Amino acid sequence: MISVEAARRRILYTISPLPAEQVAVGEGLGRVLAEDLVSRVTQPPVAVSAMDGYAVRQADLATLPARLRVAGAASAGGAVPARIGAGEAVRIFTGGPVPEGADTIVIQENAAREGGEVLVREPAPAGRYIRPAGLDFRAGEARLKAGRLLTSRDVGLAAAMDRPWLKVHRRPRIAILSTGDELAMPGEPRRPTDIVSSNGIALAAFCRASGALPIDLGIARDDRAALDGLIRAAEGADILVTSGGASVGEHDLVQAALTARGMALEFWKIAMRPGKPLMFGKLGSTAVLGLPGNPVSSLVCATIFLRPAIGRLLGMAEVPDPTEPARLGTDLEANDSREDYLRARLERDGGGDWVATPFNKQDSSMLSFLSEADCLVVRPPLAPAAAKGAPVRILRLAGGSVGI
Ligand code: AMP
Ligand code: MG
Repeated sequence: MISVEAARRRILYTISPLPAEQVAVGEGLGRVLAEDLVSRVTQPPVAVSAMDGYAVRQADLATLPARLRVAGAASAGGAVPARIGAGEAVRIFTGGPVPEGADTIVIQENAAREGGEVLVREPAPAGRYIRPAGLDFRAGEARLKAGRLLTSRDVGLAAAMDRPWLKVHRRPRIAILSTGDELAMPGEPRRPTDIVSSNGIALAAFCRASGALPIDLGIARDDRAALDGLIRAAEGADILVTSGGASVGEHDLVQAALTARGMALEFWKIAMRPGKPLMFGKLGSTAVLGLPGNPVSSLVCATIFLRPAIGRLLGMAEVPDPTEPARLGTDLEANDSREDYLRARLERDGGGDWVATPFNKQDSSMLSFLSEADCLVVRPPLAPAAAKGAPVRILRLAGGSVGI
């Protein structure tokens, strides 16, 4: 058995970022830039007003009230007014270009219009409410770097930089194969001892939430011919994820079918709970991740291994440590030699600290508790007994960034 960390390193080492493709900027959310994104424009292109009011020369406000002649008007997108001279002002609107000569904006609340003149009663500091050209960014500046996972804020910035097309890494294609004689799809007829297959659906949703394109291959019966047929259907996928066929004696079936098709086994079995029978290999250019069949095991293993693998394929510059500190909400016994991932509820205590309380049922078949869990409490191998209040590392499950 290898450690979780060694397994994760091995997976990331085996996988490389996918080639780049062009997408419309509006499609950039959740994609990873394959090149530094250089602005084609300076923003704002000229000095503009941040408020509605009057563009004036601060020198003209030395004695107040000041009466100035309104020499023109400037609105967003309009022509730059002619330079203003002593005793002159320009009526200006938010985003309107500031004329040369003006060095401050008097907001309209502090000005009284009287025909062709404006009366200013309040002082206005130099530069106030003027956004100089290039305040935000300048043409030629790379404000978004290669390897960045694009947020909605980032695609806004890319659009503002006048980049209608983005060069991003291709989305990973993940083929998902469920295995088991006892499985039926939701809504399908079942024999009395059959169970409804949930792994394929959950894993596909997980892939989507992680930025990948799932291809659900369906359910293979526990026989070599069925497995063989569906393994062939995974050709061209970047990762083939299998679930099930992982119990002692039975696992040989999935592994043997894959090996017969030429899979090079990288590792099998890790020191982790849930998820001990995890398998990883390479079948041609397709990475193969063999997940255990128990629904909690398959999703927890997806969180620990599939997510960083997708991140690497997507071209993410770094795969950050997904854990964070919290305090235990209950006493825990000493851990054995397997890294433990306990389903837990997460709440703030009176002092604002995050407190994680593992459910007292941790059976890896129980999806209801996984669904209810806010986080996983990570217990390293051989961790000593821990008392309520002790510091622990947790992995949050809720929210868009984890996906399960
Ligand atoms: P296996 O690894 O095939 O021995 O499966 C372990 C347990 O997970 C068994 O109880 C299976 O019925 C269950 N299981 C396997 N595949 C699925 C699936 N796709 N959906 C829900 N449960 C599954
Ligand atoms: Mg099975």
